[in-house]
Amino acid sequence: MSGHLCPACASSATSKIYRLDAVPVQSCILLDSETEARDFPQRPIELHFCNNCGFVFNALFDLSMVDYASTTEESQHFSGTFNRFAKDLVEEIASLDDLSGRRVLEIGCGKGDFLQELVQHTGARGLGVDPGFIPERLPGANGQEIRFQREYFDPANIAEAPDYVVCRHTLEHIPKVGPFMSDVSRILTDEADVGIFFETPDVARVLDEGAFWDIYYEHCSYFTMGSHARLFRRNGLGITKLYLAYDGQYIIQYARAGGAPVLHEEDDLDAVRALAKSFPDQVQKKRDFWKGFVAERHKVGKRVAIWGGGSKGVSFLTTDRIASMVANVVDINPFKQGKYLPGAGLRVSAPEDLKEAPPDTVIVMNPVYLKEIGAQLASMDMHPELVAV
Ligand SMILES: [Zn+2]
Repeated sequence: MSGHLCPACASSATSKIYRLDAVPVQSCILLDSETEARDFPQRPIELHFCNNCGFVFNALFDLSMVDYASTTEESQHFSGTFNRFAKDLVEEIASLDDLSGRRVLEIGCGKGDFLQELVQHTGARGLGVDPGFIPERLPGANGQEIRFQREYFDPANIAEAPDYVVCRHTLEHIPKVGPFMSDVSRILTDEADVGIFFETPDVARVLDEGAFWDIYYEHCSYFTMGSHARLFRRNGLGITKLYLAYDGQYIIQYARAGGAPVLHEEDDLDAVRALAKSFPDQVQKKRDFWKGFVAERHKVGKRVAIWGGGSKGVSFLTTDRIASMVANVVDINPFKQGKYLPGAGLRVSAPEDLKEAPPDTVIVMNPVYLKEIGAQLASMDMHPELVAV
């Protein structure tokens, strides 16, 4: 027992499985200079595993270090692959529930792109809540059908009970997930047909692969399909559909107020316990491999580029401090280009910038984009060694 109670189920049966002494407290922040980027505040991460419910959490997380209202850039909507995925999800949601004229609340709506898509596709009325929402980025969205509240989700500020709740890539940022889910279930009316859609990164794959680049400060809460579902059930919600999507990276979970039979996908506790046990060895192996991979190429004068200037890239570069051996960081998001990565201190380039000094090796931070990136490099007549983490 580690002395830290599980934030999901309050069990004391938790144990430490990972520790990093200093990581940047925000990995998708945009910084204007190399000095500012290198001096960016860093704090430790200590992941603990709950043997009772399978939840993984950073026991040293300090929410006051993360300012979501500041200049962050988490939107993945510049990628065709991600946009197709989001469109497919909108269609799936629409096929399962008739949302026409109904009130849809999106908690943690980011820049509002998904809610806009959902409202346009279904004829629903949308309310988006997010402290980082920037109205200028979504022209015309503040009309009758869709409204935004620029703030953290607080049940007291939701004037009308929603008919449907959407929450994508938000739960992993919330430290007290137990009280949060209790708040969510509180805003639902007693009508049993309120639908709930959650999308959250899956940690089973991270544990299995030792994927250290998927561990970063803003993600304080890590779920498997089972621990995700157990959190909902503990708060009186029934799971109706549960699967992994996006190359197995994301948990897609549909729920409804009231009970529902347990799905076989939820039954993962023994498997997750085994993964948590092997993780310390597995992650050390993976860290050694990538550090060696970059160092070998750097030593013989090869130019190594990282493709992906988001959280994965920052974690990949800062976990073992390998940024000095990397020539470029590339990102297709124009809002990132020309800015500097926290901790790593590297400047983010546009793909076209690679032409000046083409890389010998490109490490892609998300395998799901490998094809898209390969095609883009080939279109610029570049054919480097191309690998994904
Ligand atoms: Zn627990």
